[in-house]
Amino acid sequence: MIPLKSPEDLKMLKRSGEILAQVMQRLQERLRAGMTTQDLDVLSEELIRDSKALAAFKGYKGFPACACVSVNEEIVHGIPGPRVILEGDIVSIDLGVNYAGYFSDMAVTLPVGKVSDDKLKLITVARESLNLGIKQAKPGNYLTDISHSIQSFVESHGFSVVRQFVGHGIGAALHEEPEIPNFGSAGFGPLLKNGMVLAIEPMINAGGWECRVEKNGWTAVTKDGSASAHFEHTVAITDQGPVVLTRL
Ligand code: MG
Repeated sequence: MIPLKSPEDLKMLKRSGEILAQVMQRLQERLRAGMTTQDLDVLSEELIRDSKALAAFKGYKGFPACACVSVNEEIVHGIPGPRVILEGDIVSIDLGVNYAGYFSDMAVTLPVGKVSDDKLKLITVARESLNLGIKQAKPGNYLTDISHSIQSFVESHGFSVVRQFVGHGIGAALHEEPEIPNFGSAGFGPLLKNGMVLAIEPMINAGGWECRVEKNGWTAVTKDGSASAHFEHTVAITDQGPVVLTRL
């Protein structure tokens, strides 16, 4: 992780995060049954371009699209395509933005139309687990204080935390050190300091935590076919506490 060097860096990262949050809000407004996952990708690419930013995922390690769109049992890295989004689905949208060399990363899981109570609860617990993790992102805490708070909360609701994918440092590049697991004991890893920037991103399954990656080499799905939810924010650690850069 490359810590922020100046107030100007924080200002630019805030702008990157704001652009991303605005794009995400527009996608949320447009999401409806009958769209394809590709439609969401095309729209996100247009919105990012109109904001004078670049889509950070496109071409990253060969990823072929601008957005990761993961439906129901898909956990992360869903490749947009002809799949039609249906009423009752939950759709995770994960996007990254590069604004003048400043990177931000964000994900949300959204219900489409009327969704089962079980899926809604999964979404609520996943979103709240991120909020709890963010609260731990302050100077003087250890990195895995974030991890532990997420896991304890999620498991207290009977859901599980994905092990294979984790959060990460961010800022001057999309993925920086350290990895941020969403599980584990508190009190380990680097001591958190002013100027660090983290992408915290719990991925939560309704069933077991195990996953497998599909033949396309990207899309991760739950092994037992249960639904999965994913929330992510880019967070700067400051002496005043965590500042969520991807929240409007
Ligand atoms: Mg990320």
